[in-house]
Amino acid sequence: MTPQPTSSPMPSPTSAPAIAQLLRPIDSFSRVRNFSIIDTTLREGEQFATAHFDTATKVAIARALDAFGVEYIELTSPAASEQSRRDCELIANLGLRAKVLTHIRCHMDDARIAVQTGVRGVNVVMGTSSYLREFSHGKDMAFIVKAAGEVIRFLQSHNVEVRFSSEDSFRTDLVDLLTLYRAVDQLGVHRVGIADTVGCADPRQVYDLVRTLRGVVSCDIETHFHNDTGCAIANAYAALEAGATHIDTCVLGIGERNGITPLGGLMARLYTAARDHVSNKYALRTLPALDQLVADAVGIDVPFNNFITGSSAFTHKAGIHAKAILNNPSTYEILRPEDFGVERTVAIGHRLTGWNAVKARVVQLGFADCDDVLAKRMTAAIKAEADRNGAQSPAQVDALIRTFLANDAAEKKMTPAPARNEVTPMAPVAVTTTKAVPVAVPSPAPVAVAAAVEI
Ligand SMILES: [Zn+2]
Repeated sequence: MTPQPTSSPMPSPTSAPAIAQLLRPIDSFSRVRNFSIIDTTLREGEQFATAHFDTATKVAIARALDAFGVEYIELTSPAASEQSRRDCELIANLGLRAKVLTHIRCHMDDARIAVQTGVRGVNVVMGTSSYLREFSHGKDMAFIVKAAGEVIRFLQSHNVEVRFSSEDSFRTDLVDLLTLYRAVDQLGVHRVGIADTVGCADPRQVYDLVRTLRGVVSCDIETHFHNDTGCAIANAYAALEAGATHIDTCVLGIGERNGITPLGGLMARLYTAARDHVSNKYALRTLPALDQLVADAVGIDVPFNNFITGSSAFTHKAGIHAKAILNNPSTYEILRPEDFGVERTVAIGHRLTGWNAVKARVVQLGFADCDDVLAKRMTAAIKAEADRNGAQSPAQVDALIRTFLANDAAEKKMTPAPARNEVTPMAPVAVTTTKAVPVAVPSPAPVAVAAAVEI
């Protein structure tokens, strides 16, 4: 069917309808607007291949997470090493607003050390899948229930929050799992944990398991999703929809193998469903610095396609996209970059560029708006140059534009208006590794047009 033209007014760039239209009815189980983040960058993240946090780095990350607003910060077990114990004690006593947890094996030796550090809570874990029972610790379910009871009662006697989690929950027999969780729920744990330790679960499986568990236990439900098959964010979201109350995250999604649910990615997902809730609850504009802090700490770059803070996350390139974005960013953006402290960029130094974006760049350079014919000639020249020599840098595109404007003025025997905002290449935004040159643009369409070089 041929789409019919619409006469409905365009929403303003900052209006909410474009996002609100995505919302689905939320059923009574859903916790999408009522959840807590347990960030485990300092536990799960320490298991990332290149992570080796010294004390100062751990403290810096803990403070940054606290400033962002996560409700919990989970630390490596103090039983792991003497330095781990000292760091756990230090961070537990920093006076952070976030509750500091540590993560231990279901073992009395670990529990005794944990309660001496001053943590507010202890996350206890034990493998329950047939694989782990046979090939790892070799214990049966009766032993697991008994060991869990001993550790939980000990921790409760020290007035800390207690979570008990299975490991590899999705490959654990469902009857065994529910029996175990019912038992620990009756002991009075604060949370039970579902962990997709191997990253095998999909959102539908997650929804079914969490919803089933919700009917079995009265305590909170924490969830932990590995990203081996790319479902970590979707699984976390499905868990919340099914009634999970707590989601484990790591900054940049680091962790064992290819990691777990990324904090920023989960924020992006939740922002589309509950923007005001997420925006009021967390300091979203600190996300770029937080991602960069952890990237530096583990010696990696923020991936180009990272949620929100990747270098291309808000870069628009194709001419047809650029034109629409310049008119109204909601046309091709579901997230508002300014809400996360980043800027959008329209790349124009390539063969896909469009004349509307080139025209916008002329204005950004401080010249009067040029006519469409001239803008189209400049665009053709940029495309031809890109065909001959590859993508053009911001400086090359700007030089071409200036040359055209000067020649045009000479032809008309006029002098172009003096640059009122001469563009000096500003420092690239912290989140981009392109040669994009973000510049301020008059409202209502705050779009930075730049001759980014990537193709
Ligand atoms: Zn894990």
